[in-house]
Amino acid sequence: MNVHRITSIVKSISNINSNNFFDEICISLSSAIDADFVFIATIDETKKNATSISVANRGRKVDNFTYGLEFTPCAEVSNGSNCTHSCNVQDLYPDDQLLVDMDINGYVGVPLNTSKGEANAILVALFTEEISKVQEVEALFLLFSGLIEKELHKSSYLQTIEFSNSIIENTHEAIMVCDKNKYITYVNPSFTQMTGYTQIDLQGKTPKTLSSGKQSKSFYQAMWSGINNKGHWQGEIWNKRKDGNEYLEWLSITAIIDENNELTHYTAFFTDITEQHVAKEKRKFQDSYDDLTKAANKKTLFTFIERSIIQYENQIECNTPAALLVIDIDLFKKFNSLYSHSFGDEVLIQVANRLQSIIRSSDIVARTSGDNFALFVNHLINQDSIVHFIDEVTHEFIKPFVINDINVKITLSIGIAYFRRDAQDVHRLFEKAEQAMFAAKDNGRNSFEFYSQLLSDKANKEEQLKLSLESAIENDEFSVVYQPIVSLKNQSVTKFEALIRWNKSGSWVSPVEFIPTAEKFGLISQIGDLVLNKACMELINLKKMGFTDIIINVNRSIYEFSSGADDTSWLDTIKKYNLSPESICFELTESALAPENDKCITILNELQSAGCTIALDDFGTGYSSLNYLRRFPIDTLKIDRGFISEMTKVDGDVVLVSAIISMANALGISVVAEGVELKKEVDILVLLGCDYIQGYYFSKPLLPELLPQYLSDFQYA
Ligand code: C2E
Ligand code: MG
Ligand code: MG
Repeated sequence: MNVHRITSIVKSISNINSNNFFDEICISLSSAIDADFVFIATIDETKKNATSISVANRGRKVDNFTYGLEFTPCAEVSNGSNCTHSCNVQDLYPDDQLLVDMDINGYVGVPLNTSKGEANAILVALFTEEISKVQEVEALFLLFSGLIEKELHKSSYLQTIEFSNSIIENTHEAIMVCDKNKYITYVNPSFTQMTGYTQIDLQGKTPKTLSSGKQSKSFYQAMWSGINNKGHWQGEIWNKRKDGNEYLEWLSITAIIDENNELTHYTAFFTDITEQHVAKEKRKFQDSYDDLTKAANKKTLFTFIERSIIQYENQIECNTPAALLVIDIDLFKKFNSLYSHSFGDEVLIQVANRLQSIIRSSDIVARTSGDNFALFVNHLINQDSIVHFIDEVTHEFIKPFVINDINVKITLSIGIAYFRRDAQDVHRLFEKAEQAMFAAKDNGRNSFEFYSQLLSDKANKEEQLKLSLESAIENDEFSVVYQPIVSLKNQSVTKFEALIRWNKSGSWVSPVEFIPTAEKFGLISQIGDLVLNKACMELINLKKMGFTDIIINVNRSIYEFSSGADDTSWLDTIKKYNLSPESICFELTESALAPENDKCITILNELQSAGCTIALDDFGTGYSSLNYLRRFPIDTLKIDRGFISEMTKVDGDVVLVSAIISMANALGISVVAEGVELKKEVDILVLLGCDYIQGYYFSKPLLPELLPQYLSDFQYA
């Protein structure tokens, strides 16, 4: 072996960096062994092609090339065998065009193996002349192949590292590396983006720099014991950014151990999960609280009550230790219709806040639905305590609410049920308090009512009535009777009032009994339509018999406006029968009209401009406000029976009726006296200038088939 050659090669490559290592070694080798070409080529995975990474031609670097391995000596080398042909290599591989083109005579090739011992590159020398010292060449190749292999491993390792680095640098996940003493040695760009800290900021610092102080000492103890014992820990942790803002991250820490089982580093991967956390918290909040008022929702209320009930289980001193109040805001809908929905929302918020300000920390306020709230009041000393509490609530609500600079007065209808006395479980307790609240509403609102068995019976009866009404509507169990209305001026019957009758399994049920229930349960529109249709059919009958100028008064409930009856449907019904709107008068009860009901005013205006007339029923029983007469389009006023019977009693008063008639006359409104039973009453009404009389004096309500006869036979005298 020529020691000088080896020394020169070693010298030439000893000072070079890995960038030109392969070029240098090819150049040195080609000079040392007098080869025409020396090259190193990598083999592709299919072992079909080789690509040179360095080629030297007689001591000079030349361009790289790729070639097919089939039919070449390099194919054997790439399969792991050394291959040497000192001469005539072209004869042995006649299909190797490269050998022919380069005019090659001698060939030496050695495989270059991976660390796993697989050939993935080759070192080849090509000679145009016969190789003189072939063994020396082989020996040198074998000697340096190890060195080249090592360099190849290094470069592939560097490639892998570069690849990993680019992943670490470009990943969205924040990465931090600490040395074994927990000093931060590396952070990636995502870490800087997430925390605001650069690597320089954290030089010589530990992860404590990021601490938010939110986690307890025991939290960190558990974390480090996980890392020390299992080599890994992951979980949620609150940290602090450079700007002081806290954030929640999902953290995963791994302890890195070297081949000697020595701890070298810690790596930490984080993802910012603050947004998800906020969204989760919001969902949690929405699940338990009302978004608008921030009061608890029904579910939370029920859970709260259930927990309280458990606490009371062993206490026997008080039979009524807690009470549930179900609260309804009186006439809440008017805030929405009179102002706006956002105004209504503000009402709800302020009511919730005011209720919240009254309760103690042991109690709870909840918004249970639309304008319904509930309060659960704990630790009552006795039954009277709740009365004091309600006094407080009422007192608190005397102060007006200021919403959008408008002063509004809000009153409440409150139903109360005691835990244990009235119900032992939360659902029953709520139902009973709700029943009591409905009773408070029925009492005219702005009041409170305690649950009692009587109330419950009433509610059950009402529920039964509702079910019967539903089936009565379906089976058309209703009929209509007609009460004559006599014109004092014409001394004839010009109108009839249509009055509904319900034949319930053979017995008659008064409308006074079932109309309020129909109104309460939203069945009133169907009933109103039914009566209007029957009245129209009756008008057609009468027309056929020659009674062409008759008007029928149809009662319609004010609740039909709020239940969404559209303005034209009543007119459409009248037109469907080819009747002129003038032949129908709609009667509305004064007590149910509220001056702020704009929708109602619009519909009434439309009916009136179409030709229908509007009568204000039971005048005097409600607010009797002049305001109604001015704001509503009213043609006729019906004085309630109570005033009429009052006129003829001992010490009776005709002044009131006289005043009503004068006022109506002044406003151009005609007057009907209702419930006239006596001749004396007729006489007074004639004197007072009343326009119409309706009552048993002339006739009770009549079956429809009797109307033609009644009209033909009618004599005023
Ligand atoms: P209203 O509209 O004031 O009807 C007059 C009521 O007084 C009728 O009672 C009628 O039979 C009764 N009445 C008439 N003259 C006399 C009399 O001289 N003496 C006495 N004691 N009573 C007299 P009814 O038919 O029981 O109706 C009661 C109420 O039910 C009606 O009062 C009305 O508010 C409501 N109603 C009746 N039919 C309907 C309807 O189809 N729809 C709606 N929404 N309500 C109706
Ligand atoms: Mg009426
Ligand atoms: Mg009436």
